[in-house]
Amino acid sequence: MLFHKIEEVRTEVLKWKKEGLTVGLVPTMGALHAGHLSLIKKAKETCDKVVVSDFVNPIQFGPSEDFDKYPRTLDADMELCSKEGVDIVFAPSADEMYGEGRRLSNDTLTYVCPPFFYVNTLCGKTRTGHFDGVCTVVLKLFNIVQPDYAFFGQKDAQQVIIIKKMVKDLNVPIQIIQCPIVREESGLALSSRNKYLSEQGKKDALVLSKILNNIKSCYEKGITDVEALKETAYSFLTDKHDMEYLEIVDRNTLENKTKADENSIALIACRVENVRLIDNIYLK
Ligand code: AMP
Repeated sequence: MLFHKIEEVRTEVLKWKKEGLTVGLVPTMGALHAGHLSLIKKAKETCDKVVVSDFVNPIQFGPSEDFDKYPRTLDADMELCSKEGVDIVFAPSADEMYGEGRRLSNDTLTYVCPPFFYVNTLCGKTRTGHFDGVCTVVLKLFNIVQPDYAFFGQKDAQQVIIIKKMVKDLNVPIQIIQCPIVREESGLALSSRNKYLSEQGKKDALVLSKILNNIKSCYEKGITDVEALKETAYSFLTDKHDMEYLEIVDRNTLENKTKADENSIALIACRVENVRLIDNIYLK
């Protein structure tokens, strides 16, 4: 079922709840690929009913980011969702979500602002306001759908850490399920933004997973000094790569450490053909 209106989703979910069925939500921005499908499959295994939201959220994009050109493929998304047995695809307009004619800013709308410590690092450093936009839309989707479970990918590791923190701090009665990163055979993490890359760009983009895998294998060989582990990246980089960050931090709290340990995660953001790509790996 495709719904564009909040009220339609509410009415349907209420019926399910009255029957005692459990509900899972998979928030997406559409342009679905096998990474999204892994979340949907996990939701189908876990819950009686599954809602996929398909909404390119304007308030999580900065003014110079790719909101206008972000791929929008609702027909293809619908086909994939119906093959996976999704019960509702919720694809609202921005007006439906934020009110008609609203200026989309925190001058006039209530925003959810995650803690400074969690946003003033990694992607949040360059994407000012991004996680405010993410938390705001995710909490709205939680309130609209009222799921028992919500599914997020480790691909966006900082995002899922921040959402878990929001759920804990605001006592949101929803269980967050984190799903592993789905990759192409080459190692490239699937992303809707890979569509922007040329064939050569996709090859150049393999540097992200190569750097991360190399850090992990160095860690496994006994190197724990974070600076030394980060240094190993430079031999992979060429003038095709514009690295934004490479960090090794605690996988639950994002805290910096001087020594990597079993709770460490290595995260990278790098531009290839001016496409901003992110990836990460648990060291253990
Ligand atoms: P997006 O449509 O990019 O906002 O992503 C929607 C959800 O899919 C987020 O929870 C992402 O972390 C997750 N996701 C995106 N790419 C992947 C991937 N390659 N593997 C697993 N999950 C992913």
